[in-house]
Amino acid sequence: MVAIPGPSIMPDRVLAAMARPMPDLYAGEILDVSAEVVEQLPGIARTTGRAFIVTANGHGAWEMAITNTLSAGDRVLVLESGRFAVVWGEYAAVTGVEPEVLPGDPRRAVDPAALEARLRADRAREIKAVLVAHTDTASSVRNDMSALRAALDAADHPALLMADCIASMGCDPFEMDEWGVDVALTGCQKGLMVPPGVAFVWANDRALAAHQTAGLRVGYFDWTRRMRDGAIYDYYAGTPPIAHLYGLREALSLIEEEGGIEAVWRRHRVLADAVRAAVDAWSSPGHLELNIIEPDARSNAVTTVRTGAVDVDALRSHCAADAGLTVGLGVGGVPGFRIGHMGHLNPPMLLGALGTIETALHDVGAPLGGSGVAAAAESLHRSRP
Ligand SMILES: *Cc1c(COP(=O)(O)O)cnc(C)c1O
Repeated sequence: MVAIPGPSIMPDRVLAAMARPMPDLYAGEILDVSAEVVEQLPGIARTTGRAFIVTANGHGAWEMAITNTLSAGDRVLVLESGRFAVVWGEYAAVTGVEPEVLPGDPRRAVDPAALEARLRADRAREIKAVLVAHTDTASSVRNDMSALRAALDAADHPALLMADCIASMGCDPFEMDEWGVDVALTGCQKGLMVPPGVAFVWANDRALAAHQTAGLRVGYFDWTRRMRDGAIYDYYAGTPPIAHLYGLREALSLIEEEGGIEAVWRRHRVLADAVRAAVDAWSSPGHLELNIIEPDARSNAVTTVRTGAVDVDALRSHCAADAGLTVGLGVGGVPGFRIGHMGHLNPPMLLGALGTIETALHDVGAPLGGSGVAAAAESLHRSRP
């Protein structure tokens, strides 16, 4: 079993839906399946904007967002709060924009006041877009997108606000329209429960207007061709990811059957609260602790645990070799390990993972404050309606 921040555990129903012979790609049921998912995707990001499906991973979605809205030499402001927005900026630099990193703290969310101050100083309005990870998977911070939008508005700055929701979509609440996010993107393999291979980019009217003059457009990702009405071969820039579309339709049905995206967000909050209760119980001064300091800034998709002197490699080996559980390793310079709790997850799966990690913590002689499993069970009990 995986407890890593993507790919997540895949529901059997999704896998079964993907296992099928290939149909005609220009006619029949695949047209309906495609139309259905294209119609449902805006609701997942809570927008009336347009959803693009790209046969790629999250990195492809990054590139689709940049090349469709910006021109060579445009300055983009990258908001650091871990690792991923910075890497997005590095990829964007290769396509021709000029990233500037607004430095952040790996234990805190992006400071909206710092964003506002930087944008106010940009009198010439050279910054064309602000890039941020909604949830950064290295630090496990969740940034406050509505506060960041308020910072852009307070500075009266016209830059596009672009959110990497690869970790958060379907796990942490996200309101694209209400929060004034112009471009949002994600991959399918985390909260959306489909094996890696397709990614989604949502664009509002401001983003589509910027597209009209974007100089970085490239054939494969180009929204213009993909927006041509009716032609499935244009929408996917070639053969559609047929099996993935069937899988995605099934995953979206699972979300509907659970009670819609808000019910899914609630489940993730309950499960994440149990993870945090476990880590708090394991904690003791100078040893294990939650990476993100402010409780409101902790993601419900992934939890980064700082481990002090604990041998993380040995811990992860025990989990994998003794119990078949893959735990996420620390990345982006944050010392410790990460627990992914995104997508297809319920209390018995989570308690199994936490129990396995606790056993391994004993195996490696980690100094523990108390039982995380007991604290997680109590947290789940308290969350009962
Ligand atoms: C997983 C992840 C990525 C990378 O996604 P790929 O599908 O591997 O390209 C980027 N950003 C964030 C926030 C992620 O969690």
